[in-house]
Amino acid sequence: MTFSRQETLLTTGLVFLALIIGWVTGAFGWSFFAGTLIWSAAQLRERTRLIRWSSHPLKRPESENEPWQETAYRLYRAIARARARHARTLRQFRNLRALTDSLPDAAVIIDSHGDIENLNNAAQQLLRLSATDRGNHLGSLVRETEFNALLKGQIEGDLIEFASPFNADKRLEARRIIMDEDQVLILVRDVTELNRLLSMRQDFIANVSHELRTPLTVIVGYIETLMNEELDEKTTHELVGKLLSPTTRMRALVDDLLLLTRLEASPSPSAEELASVDMGVILNAIAADARMLSGGRHDIQLDISSRAHVLGIDSELHSACLNLVTNAVRYSPDGGPIRISWTAIPSGARFAVEDRGMGIPREHLSRITERFYRVDLAQSRVRGGTGLGLAIVKHVLKRHNTHLQVKSELARGSTFFCDFPESQLA
Ligand code: ADP
Repeated sequence: MTFSRQETLLTTGLVFLALIIGWVTGAFGWSFFAGTLIWSAAQLRERTRLIRWSSHPLKRPESENEPWQETAYRLYRAIARARARHARTLRQFRNLRALTDSLPDAAVIIDSHGDIENLNNAAQQLLRLSATDRGNHLGSLVRETEFNALLKGQIEGDLIEFASPFNADKRLEARRIIMDEDQVLILVRDVTELNRLLSMRQDFIANVSHELRTPLTVIVGYIETLMNEELDEKTTHELVGKLLSPTTRMRALVDDLLLLTRLEASPSPSAEELASVDMGVILNAIAADARMLSGGRHDIQLDISSRAHVLGIDSELHSACLNLVTNAVRYSPDGGPIRISWTAIPSGARFAVEDRGMGIPREHLSRITERFYRVDLAQSRVRGGTGLGLAIVKHVLKRHNTHLQVKSELARGSTFFCDFPESQLA
């Protein structure tokens, strides 16, 4: 037992006082008895104050210097430190909770029996679990054979992909991570979009390879024939001439691919990149090109009744309009009129290309701007299409705050148009 300084002073003072009084009066017994009484009264007073404080231990004791109060003060400081530590832990726990709840992936902690111990918000959405499912077996709530095998640790690599048992259109990926010998973390994420992008990329690579292979096979065929030394000069010349078509086709495809990749990768043009593009000039040049391509089979009409300039990128707008006009010529095999127009409309200005060609069946309309999508593959190839024209148009128009619209009727013709808003005009 240790005495505080005040306690030592008080006790020593009282002993001395009792000794002096005892020596003076000769009544040592009585003076020590009186001293003990005073000392006990002081202790009682301190004890009462300590008891009073102990019913509110979070309040600072009245004094830190009196003997029992010092003990109370030490306790008070220990409690305050423990409270601060607890508050810190609680804050960290809340932060961690908010963090896991804001994750888009489901996180579920299960015990060694597979019963749910904890779960985040995404688990409630992806796996249709709720907070009240704590304590229930995860495998009996998500009834999927492979998922259950994963929970039991029976899957090599601890990773599976499976169709969501709650939404047939969704694909989920689940991962099992051992946290310690009693706890396992199950992470589940929605990979539907990722899968779609991956398969789009695979399709794209397959399409590009196929598109390049066709003209390459033709070129190789001609070259093999040319290697025959017995060919006369006229035939050789003819064969070399035939190489032009497949090589031109390959170049068109590579050019379109490069342009499309650049458009897809570039951010929206900044104000400094935009120029005032005179659509009249562009469309006059395109109409001349279209007349050349048509070889006089079509009646190409040009109607420029708006003087509005577009705030945009000249080369991109030229490429988009040329693609639409070229398609009109390409898919109007029997000739007929093709009308290219740039007209004022209440909301701004409209660019339109109208033909009386093959038209597009209704069921294909929503897909024709997809890369390599063709209504009729053979027709497109014969006419020199790359399958990328409308995809390029779509991207260019998007970068100019507008979008492609189509009206088409099978065997009657099509109208492709887009409306530039006032804000995009100079
Ligand atoms: P392509 O290089 O094959 O023309 P596009 O992306 O330009 O590729 O067009 C996609 C498909 O849309 C074409 O293959 C064609 O089937 C259809 N198409 C486009 N423009 C027209 C049109 N004016 N008339 C009829 N069909 C069209």
